[in-house]
Amino acid sequence: MTQNKPYLMALDQGTTSSRAIIFDKKGKIVSVAQKDFKQYFPQSGWVEHDPQEIWTSQSSVMIESLVNKGIGADQIAGIGITNQRETTIVWDRKTGKAIYKAIVWQDRRTAAFCNELKEKGHSELIASKTGLIIDAYFSATKIRWILNNVEGARARAEAGELAFGTVDSWLVWNLTTGKNHITDITNASRTMLYNIHSQEWDQELLDLFEIPSSLLPEVKSCSEVYCETAGDVLRVKIPIAGIAGDQQAALFGQLCTKPGMAKTTYGTGCFLVMNTGKEAVRSKNQLLTTVAWKIGDEINYALEGSVFIGGAAIQWLRDGIGLLGNANESEKLAMSLKDNDGVYFVPALAGLGAPHWDQDARGAFFGITRGTTIAHMTRAALEAIAYQVYDVLKAMEKDCGKPTQELRVDGGATANNFLMQFQADLLGCEIKRPQIIETTAIGAAFLAGLAVGFWESREEIQSLWTADRSFTPEMDSEHREKLIHFWHKAVDRSKNWVESDK
Ligand code: ADP
Repeated sequence: MTQNKPYLMALDQGTTSSRAIIFDKKGKIVSVAQKDFKQYFPQSGWVEHDPQEIWTSQSSVMIESLVNKGIGADQIAGIGITNQRETTIVWDRKTGKAIYKAIVWQDRRTAAFCNELKEKGHSELIASKTGLIIDAYFSATKIRWILNNVEGARARAEAGELAFGTVDSWLVWNLTTGKNHITDITNASRTMLYNIHSQEWDQELLDLFEIPSSLLPEVKSCSEVYCETAGDVLRVKIPIAGIAGDQQAALFGQLCTKPGMAKTTYGTGCFLVMNTGKEAVRSKNQLLTTVAWKIGDEINYALEGSVFIGGAAIQWLRDGIGLLGNANESEKLAMSLKDNDGVYFVPALAGLGAPHWDQDARGAFFGITRGTTIAHMTRAALEAIAYQVYDVLKAMEKDCGKPTQELRVDGGATANNFLMQFQADLLGCEIKRPQIIETTAIGAAFLAGLAVGFWESREEIQSLWTADRSFTPEMDSEHREKLIHFWHKAVDRSKNWVESDK
């Protein structure tokens, strides 16, 4: 009788913390519990988590979120899961114990092998099947590393004794005490082993990465009752009914359900995802093609691109060079000027990502004169966030041949009204900042809620999404073109700065 149960629980298993968030029928947050866990950096470029700690932190916040507000587990209609993507765990099917730490998406230990794959000419095969660019981020090379480096792992894998999963699979396995070994299609699409067109694990790729298929979880849609939690986890059995990777959950949480709708998360970096509908669009600008979600038999694809330095540019002004006392000040400083007065900042602090792709680029200010002040530099940094998002979104539009209809935004830096207005001005499209800022968690809750009948239909959840504020473009096109012209001139000058032999 899910109809009588007033709440849904979203598990948001992120890179630095595990969270449980309880929502009511109006999509309002009723309770939140969060627990950070340890990051392991055993060697330069390696990043690991303890799988057991992922599970204990996640299960303890589930209980805490209930207890804090006196909510009984029997009042929860369903659980939705969203998670850090690509992070790889291999465990023993009998004991349920991981055979190695979780290798986190950021981990670069397999970069050399990825370069080898590229040199051997596998890029096209992999991109055509998975929509991905060969990179150490994705799970395939991490699984291979575990099988090749943990003693006895390969033989045990071949004997069918081991299981692989991304973090969603690991949580479901533990929530059901080993009864269910599943993942959803969005997480599967980030492994580099899954054919996003035929919607199945790809034997040719499994052979290429030397991964026995017996390791793999069954791939499910994003919204269906997969199973129930085991009685010894929460005493009450709760249906697990929604799963999506974090970026996809955010896209759904923002209800970007029509082709051409996009969301950008303005955090440390900026993460853009555009819904391309039933069509899996191949990018000519090195963006990723990925599964947005699958509900019933209906699949939606998306284009994805990231900007490395987003809000981090403001962090750097504050903590790196001490120009700002806090991030909020940046808005006032930027607004104290009528214009950027020709000052531009290229935040290529870690090279440039999509669509410029130059790891030898470095950060630079341009157009500095004796009149340049802290306000100019701050404004240039905020504008730079918006220019970078503009470049990625334009690349997406070029790839799919459609203009952006509307950009929905979330993340810490969206608090900055100057940045949001400037972004709308540059893009020439409406920007909407939602009232519910926990877009990732509510995306997982929406997916689970649809499956258990907590919400009747997509129309019903559409009505829950309301904008806190919209930003409408006001800038004339001549001025916009001038700004973009100088931005691109600045980007060109910052490229190719580092010379590897010097
Ligand atoms: P993450 O999840 O990546 O840690 P958050 O969504 O919490 O990021 O956003 C934090 C980022 O947003 C920081 O890089 C910070 O500098 C930036 N930020 C926070 N408030 C503002 C603001 N008012 N103006 C501009 N940037 C901001």
